[in-house]
Amino acid sequence: SIFKFNERVTTEAKDATYEFRGPVISVRNLEKKFGEHEVLKDISFDLFEGDVVCIIGSSGSGKSTLLRCINHLETPTSGQILYHGYPLTKDAQTINRFRSQVGMVFQQFNLFNNMTVFDNCMAGVHKVKKRSKEYSTEICMKYLEKVGMAPYVKAKPHQLSGGMKQRVAIARALAMEPEVLLFDEPTSALDPEMVGEVLSVMKQLANEGLTMVIVTHEMAFARDVSTRTIFMDKGYIVEDAPPQELFNNPKEARTREFLSRFM
Ligand code: ADP
Ligand code: MG
Repeated sequence: SIFKFNERVTTEAKDATYEFRGPVISVRNLEKKFGEHEVLKDISFDLFEGDVVCIIGSSGSGKSTLLRCINHLETPTSGQILYHGYPLTKDAQTINRFRSQVGMVFQQFNLFNNMTVFDNCMAGVHKVKKRSKEYSTEICMKYLEKVGMAPYVKAKPHQLSGGMKQRVAIARALAMEPEVLLFDEPTSALDPEMVGEVLSVMKQLANEGLTMVIVTHEMAFARDVSTRTIFMDKGYIVEDAPPQELFNNPKEARTREFLSRFM
């Protein structure tokens, strides 16, 4: 593996050698209102190193708002987001440092359309993180290779398929060497035949131990790849469980009802 991330800690290895280090991110009693509309209601969960948490739920249940609050693209109305146990303050420096550790991949890719694939990757690591040109080039090429997009460094986004654009967006996020990657429906804007290539990149990252939170409608992916699946409905976390449990033996009627739509 060319990743620096720790190998996924298996249960057996955990018993033998794992030193408990506490959650990377802790969401504590998070609430978010837009005016009178309460979109997130008392959301709490922990994200540990190596976790791959998939968030599922109907459109409008608050999934994107939750990711946006975690990444401080939205300001929570109340509650806390802790990063390695420390509450995030609202000053720009702290938030920027946090954002460089917690990357985000969007449904609509958010690539710069006037820039090449390579420059899109460089934008974060060279321009924002201010790493040297040599280092930035090396790391961008490493991750473009990883997602199979190295042959397209000189292409502009309009020359690429949706699946290719999303793989470039993932490489760009990885080049920032984040500790956590957040994905908001990364395959929802793709033609069906391109969903697989993006999911397989994400599956590989999961196997290599990258800590991720993935909002998705791909139920088979959530069941097979997540270490925990969270079902959200109407601004609440209804169920947060290992995927075997949540998909095969859901505790809540609302979870069963939601899952039955995919059968
Ligand atoms: P999901 O991602 O699960 O589809 P969202 O988090 O996008 O859900 O939205 C949850 C609710 O919050 C929706 O009712 C949506 O209309 C509302 N909402 C989201 N963003 C805003 C905003 N910036 N201003 C007002 N309402 C918003
Ligand atoms: Mg959404």
